[in-house]
This record gives sequence, structure tokens and C-alpha cells, in this order.
Amino acid sequence: MLDGRRILVAGMGRSGVSAAEYALRQGARVTVTDGRRDAPTVDGATHRYGGFLTSDFLSSDLIIVSPGVPASAPELVKAKVQGIPIVSELGFAAERLQRSGVPILAITGTNGKSSVAWFAHQLLTAAGRQSFVGGNFGTPLTELLSADTQPDFAVVEVSSYQLEFPGALSPNVAVCLNLANDHLGRHKSISNYAAHKTRLFENMGDDGFAAIPASPRLNPNGLLNHGATSAQRMWLDQHPGILRSGDQLMLSGTHDDGPVDLAPLKLLGAHNRDNASAAVLISVAAGVRRDDIHIGCLTALPHRLEPVHMAHGVTWVNDSKATNIDAAIAGISGLEGAKIVLLGGAGKAGAEYNRLQSVLDKTVRWVICFGHAGTEIAEALSHANLECAATLADAVHAAAKHAQATDHVLLSPACASFDEFSNFEERGRTFTALAQEATA
Ligand code: ADP
Repeated sequence: MLDGRRILVAGMGRSGVSAAEYALRQGARVTVTDGRRDAPTVDGATHRYGGFLTSDFLSSDLIIVSPGVPASAPELVKAKVQGIPIVSELGFAAERLQRSGVPILAITGTNGKSSVAWFAHQLLTAAGRQSFVGGNFGTPLTELLSADTQPDFAVVEVSSYQLEFPGALSPNVAVCLNLANDHLGRHKSISNYAAHKTRLFENMGDDGFAAIPASPRLNPNGLLNHGATSAQRMWLDQHPGILRSGDQLMLSGTHDDGPVDLAPLKLLGAHNRDNASAAVLISVAAGVRRDDIHIGCLTALPHRLEPVHMAHGVTWVNDSKATNIDAAIAGISGLEGAKIVLLGGAGKAGAEYNRLQSVLDKTVRWVICFGHAGTEIAEALSHANLECAATLADAVHAAAKHAQATDHVLLSPACASFDEFSNFEERGRTFTALAQEATA
């Protein structure tokens, strides 16, 4: 119980609201604060909106932070100096779930987190286990605290922001899928970003499994490491852990070592073979037997290489979640056959668009660059069929004009969506609607 404790919840997105409501139900005195004036309100809490007040931070017994509030916020820095406990919403929920015996299977990394979490959840469910999936995507972990029944496993996507204040988060199985340049606006350097990612392993027990990749492509300069974890050290691309050759996956270091056949996988994208492999490792490390792994059950999450429309022999593929260059590289190179690629949106600090050149092979028939970063991307690339469009709508119309039967039109934008849209989901839905309109 949190009876009478003074809890401050900083950042009132969905996870902040969830944490505030939970703390109130537990008898805490809750203040909620947000830089926005119009953030969602919570009955029973004291509201401090339109900016942070240092006094709120310094008079709290516990501060719960949402991922949107950086550790560098001056009020948090002062509270930390004063020794006031600070925990992310995810760490706050994880501590309570761990106490009630719910094993946590955690996934972090620059790209593929949500997909792997979703795949692990599907594999566990198909193996007859009760599984919750959420955290950084979908349902905040705190919402699980109020559920009527507890699942066998909580599969949790964890972002580097949530690892700024991990609290006592101690997963039973944890993987960091890969590391690439992203979020450097907040973490400042890739080594600092990597150090946050590997905090996931810090509190793990010796019966846990912690996995990272070894190859320089996924782990540049070996910046990802197991640190001082007590968990068993596993690898995503060598033994002990998993090693994949085509559709054949070999597991070692788990409770049920041996081969797993990925051939039944029906998903687009070569990277989804890696994502499925990671999900297999997580499930088997969590105790599922290899015989109970049903690869054919896996479906794509919306906005991740998702086929959304088919007309005149052309397949339109929404990969709007590819918001950085490495994700777009995975999307473009992973999609087999002739394609028209749509790149653009809100650019990110330090983005090196010329890296996209490596995937503009002969399967890429046209490149259409759109939105705020469109011209910058076009200038960084060379291709015989390259054009710029002002907006996503213009880009879709151009693609519809150029597309031939059997082509894929792929939105793998390599940029954020905020120039035209509120988020990547809205961009993906708009792409789908525009594709339908343009081909009607
Ligand atoms: P995250 O939750 O880490 O953002 P998602 O699973 O939502 O990752 O996928 C985001 C995008 O990253 C996808 O649209 C795809 O283009 C790309 N992607 C997915 N899995 C991988 C991977 N294993 N390696 C590189 N890129 C990937």
C-alpha cells in the first residue's frame, strides 16, 4: 500500500495517468504535473499543469516519471541530488509485479522491440500460457497491476527512456536486439544510449537469461554488453543463445536446446526472421518447450511492414514505424521483389541519409522523397528514377502513377512523422487511405 505517501507523477501521457490512478487507489496523496496545460486530468489528484514546480519535486516521497520527461529536467536533477526516489512508470509497475511473482520478459533495442514483444506474446499464447504484452507500446505496465487475474508472463517492451530510472526492474529474460544511431537528441552520444539499454540487465538474478547480439552490424564497436549482470549471458547470433542459417534456428544454453524450423513463418521482411528468432529464444528461455513453439501463428503488428492494400497487382506496404535510417534499411532490403520506395517526413538530428544508398539496388524502381526532409534525402541519394513530392499525398499519387503489376509500394520513411502527422500510426493510416483512393 502507498497509504498517505506523497507521490508526484511527472508527464501525463497514458502511462502517467495509469500510474496516478493506481497510486490514488493505493491511498497515496498524488500530485500530477505536465508541461502542457491541456494534459489529461485525474480525479482525486492535485494538478500542476503548464510547467514543473521544483517544490513539488522536492516535497515528494516518490517521483514516478513518464518516458517523455528526460532525466536532465532540472527539477529531476535537483530531486536526485536530494536523494528523493525516482522511478519510471515501467519500473514502478515491474517492482510490484515481481513481488507478486509475475515473470517479466523484457525487450529493448533500437529497432524491432514491439515486433519481438508481440511475437513472444503470440508464441506464449499459442503454447497455452497466459501472457500480457505492453510497456512502451500498447498498454502501460501499471494497468496490469489492476487486472483481475495475473498472467503467467508479462512481455514488456522497454525503451531507453524508461531505463533512465529503471528502479528495481529485474526481468527473468531480457534481450537487447540491436543498437543504431537514434534518440541522440536526448542521450547525446551512442555510448551513453548503449549504456542505458544495458541497464536492463543490471538487477537480474542468476536464474535469468540476458541476450545481446555480437555482430558489429547489430552491436557497433561492441557498445552493447552484458555488464555486471548475474544472469546467464546469451547471444542473439552465436552460442550460447541462437544461431540462424536461413530457416534453421539452433538454440543453446536454454532448458530445451536444439533446432527450431522457421519455414512456417508467413511474415514479409528478412529482419522478421531475426525478430521471430529472438522471440523463440525468449519463449524457450521462459520455459516453453520447443515442441510447443508454433511459428506459423505469428502475425505482423500494424505499421511494421504491413501489407495494407492490393490493387492492379500492386501491393502497398505500410512500414510507417520505420522512423530511423536503420529501420528503413531493414524494411527496404527485407522486402523481396520490385518496389517503389517512399522516404521522408520530419528529419532527425544527425541523420546520414546517404546510408540508404546501400539498399537502393536494382529491385528499387523508383524513389520518392517527400515532406520536410524530402529534399535533404534526395540530395544525399543517387538513383535514375528519383523525384521529390511536397506531401505524403503527393508521394502516394506519384507512386500510383509509376507502379506496375507485381510491384510493392513501400512506405519505409526513415523519418519521424511530425511534419504532417501527430504520430506514425496516423501517417500509416493516411498512407493506407491514400493508396485506396489513388487506385480506386
Ligand atoms: P521498435 O518498437 O523498436 O520501434 P518495431 O518492432 O515497432 O520496433 O519496428 C519498427 C521498424 O523497425 C519496423 O517498421 C521495421 O522497419 C524496423 N525493424 C523491425 N525489426 C527490425 C530489426 N530486427 N532490425 C532492424 N529494423 C527492424
